[in-house]
Amino acid sequence: MITKIDHLGIAVRDWETAVARYTTLTAGPPQHIEEVPEQKVKVAMFEVGEARIELLSATAPDSPIAKFLEKRGEGMHHICFQVPNLEEALQRLQADGMEILPGAGSAGAQGRRVAFLHPKSAAGVLIELVEKL
Ligand code: ZN
Repeated sequence: MITKIDHLGIAVRDWETAVARYTTLTAGPPQHIEEVPEQKVKVAMFEVGEARIELLSATAPDSPIAKFLEKRGEGMHHICFQVPNLEEALQRLQADGMEILPGAGSAGAQGRRVAFLHPKSAAGVLIELVEKL
């Protein structure tokens, strides 16, 4: 049911510095920059082969990214898996006891429908699911 790793999310404090570093690292500027008001984040996407790196910074003090940075500092924030059908994936995972966070099915970056699973459901890692376009 998971077709690929869509992207890896990295929480960053200093947007300009992080974008500059990943521009150097991936040998090119981000292919996509966007603010996602629903999630109170600003994202920069860097394509790396078939997957992408997503830099995330907070746009409000009550953003989930602001809270994450406060608790754990900069670094790996989540893994995003692509699924063909979000509802089917969520139904199956919920039936198997995975905890789905509130707001499932809302719009993420690039208007794609996303859902998040509680880190305790995946060995301490926040999991994002995104529906294939
Ligand atoms: Zn993401």
